[in-house]
Amino acid sequence: MAPQLLTRGKVVIGLGANFPGAWGTPEATIAKALGEMGRANIGVAAVSPLYVTAAVGSARQPPYVNAVALLDTRLPPEALLRVLKAIERRSGRRAGRPWGPRTLDIDILDYGGQVRLWRRGRATFDEAGARPLTLPHPRVHERPFVLRPLLDIAPDWRHPALKRSARELWRQASKRGQGAVIKRL
Ligand code: ATP
Ligand code: CA
Ligand code: CA
Repeated sequence: MAPQLLTRGKVVIGLGANFPGAWGTPEATIAKALGEMGRANIGVAAVSPLYVTAAVGSARQPPYVNAVALLDTRLPPEALLRVLKAIERRSGRRAGRPWGPRTLDIDILDYGGQVRLWRRGRATFDEAGARPLTLPHPRVHERPFVLRPLLDIAPDWRHPALKRSARELWRQASKRGQGAVIKRL
């Protein structure tokens, strides 16, 4: 698929999987999840390559497969998150430890540049577990496994709260190591 630039109104999501579930391997699960979005009338405008990345959180878990996608949707952020969480559940995801192994995790990284629950360059909610919808996602800027695939499909993306480019954030995050990119699939 030809790379597309992020334009106004676009929505960026991150997908991650590191545990087989109802839809098979992590790769198969991500492919199926994107298909399910189409069925829910959510347009998938671009999908990054898949990356194998080191798990963050409890050390003893398999590496993740991660990707980023650009969506076209008229759903407001809360409604979109509900649809994405229903897809996570259908993949076989069960409640578990925060940052533990999951069949599928889908986060809204950026919803058309909206900023919610950020103050003075920090998200006011950054823990996992139930928390109000935070936009952009509280940790998008520090995660190599998100920034690397984001650069593939939206090289001109800028963090709407920090006002820094994906490239600049990637350079910093890739040095710190948590959630490092191991290889491109
Ligand atoms: P992390 O947030 O560090 O990536 P996680 O994805 O494992 O951790 P979850 O258990 O999937 O965490 O989600 C925790 C809560 O975050 C959910 O209740 C969800 O509603 C909420 N949430 C807040 N903002 C967002 C967002 N931008 N995208 C996805 N979920 C969000
Ligand atoms: Ca996540
Ligand atoms: Ca999540």
